Amino acid sequence: MTAHNHTEQIPSAEQLLLSRGVKPTPQRVVIAEYLLQTESHPTADEVLSAVAQALPVALSRATVYNTLNTLKEAGVIKEVLTEPGRVRYDANITHHHHFVDVKTGKIVDIPSDKVEAIGKLLGDQYKVHGFQVLFYGEVESG
Ligand SMILES: [Zn+2]
Repeated sequence: MTAHNHTEQIPSAEQLLLSRGVKPTPQRVVIAEYLLQTESHPTADEVLSAVAQALPVALSRATVYNTLNTLKEAGVIKEVLTEPGRVRYDANITHHHHFVDVKTGKIVDIPSDKVEAIGKLLGDQYKVHGFQVLFYGEVESG
């Protein structure tokens, strides 16, 4: 059964790479595609295990790290730091914040308009160029 969805909001990973001046090699496309369709904010190792089967040749850890760096530098993805020493990746490059569910480890995007006023609380003492807020707690389903 093919559900055809005509909402073309998400550009193909290949188009996205080209628009950012990145040569769309197979490993870059596969990694970008994975990041575009997940909301899990994976680490490099999680990216590696998720895309391992998608390519005919095995990806090395170094290749995954290099690819993630290339994508980050081109502005295709962002780094997210939710815990010290652990870099996660996010293909949602719009300005937003994060909520970490401490029970499940799940990381949820929080739209920037929900915390827009926080920057103003600092007052005149700081010239704020931007900010990222990280919330911790539990998601109440319901
Ligand atoms: Zn995010």
